[in-house]
Amino acid sequence: MAADPISRLFFHDLEKVCAGQLADQAPPWQKALHWQAAATTFKYLIHRHEHGLAAVKSRACRIEILIRSLDRVFDFLGQEVCSACAAPCCLTADVYYDFTDLLFLCLVGKTLPPGQPRTVSASGRRTSCRHLGPAGCCLPRSERPWLCTWYICPAQKIFIRKHFSKDGDHLQSVISEIKDLRKQMTALFVETVNP
Ligand code: SF4
Ligand code: SF4
Repeated sequence: MAADPISRLFFHDLEKVCAGQLADQAPPWQKALHWQAAATTFKYLIHRHEHGLAAVKSRACRIEILIRSLDRVFDFLGQEVCSACAAPCCLTADVYYDFTDLLFLCLVGKTLPPGQPRTVSASGRRTSCRHLGPAGCCLPRSERPWLCTWYICPAQKIFIRKHFSKDGDHLQSVISEIKDLRKQMTALFVETVNP
């Protein structure tokens, strides 16, 4: 294993993930150097263990398909609920890519964003999400932090209950399936690259 400083930075995080500790460290990789280190190391590990990651990659592909299948219902919610929201969460929520998000993006070969969605400005203030454009999020849903998809706010829940209970059940079951697949994908990846 390469012992350059960039890889060491990331492997420090990987050890914490194995020990179940990274959740306490959120959001990870806020500095550009750490973000690049994580991305480089994921790509390196995926390349190095290419032949042992088939089960991991198949879960990543399934996750991508499932997230895409949610577009219709979330686009509708955006149009009907978010467009009238007085406090849009994309302006204020502390969204970030976690270990599984970054692993997923690397496994499915997406172009990675230049860093976490929110950064700290020179004056020490947290910026709003870099992917927020005038017409909403500029990223395809599968490239957003998973948090941006699974979180259904109270206003959306009320709308779902009122207007499409069947679609609401489907939405919850797809979100549960994605959550399970993400856990499996990460566990299998860690097991393969860090036995
Ligand atoms: S998800 Fe909820 S809080 Fe966020 S913009 Fe939509 S309505 Fe507002
Ligand atoms: S990534 Fe997109 S959906 Fe998520 S907070 Fe940023 S603008 Fe909003």
